[in-house]
Amino acid sequence: MNFFISMLMVLFISNPFNTSEVTPEIDTQKTEIVIEGTDQMKFNLSEINVKAGETVTLTLKHTGKLPKAAMGHNWVLLASGTDVKTFAMEALKARDNEYIPKGTEQVLAYTALVGGGEETTIEFTAPAAGEYDFICTFPGHYALMKGKLIVE
Ligand code: ZN
Repeated sequence: MNFFISMLMVLFISNPFNTSEVTPEIDTQKTEIVIEGTDQMKFNLSEINVKAGETVTLTLKHTGKLPKAAMGHNWVLLASGTDVKTFAMEALKARDNEYIPKGTEQVLAYTALVGGGEETTIEFTAPAAGEYDFICTFPGHYALMKGKLIVE
């Protein structure tokens, strides 16, 4: 067998992914976020950074002790351009749907409502680059429980 052909085969087999784009793309496609809500009506994060189009796994942990009916928390990501106050007022009426207005196009992603000691996880695709508000829609919480999702 020709020596050079053998060498070429070795090189080919040992380096099957010669294109450098392949590996980094896989590395950056998934981000895990953990955000905590407390009995003091606060999120521990006011800013979350992700990359457009990546899969985001978000876990909301309620680190308090109060029950869901008294101090429920959720994490609701709003479409850009949504008026937070107006939306929060609308959400108040959706008590039977854990304060998520049915049929709304202003919600990009949301978690279940949790009480003290509970946690819940969702997965969503990060939207286009920009800044998005997130809030807790439990009555009276949005003014304190809010932050920005920054998408690069
Ligand atoms: Zn809350």
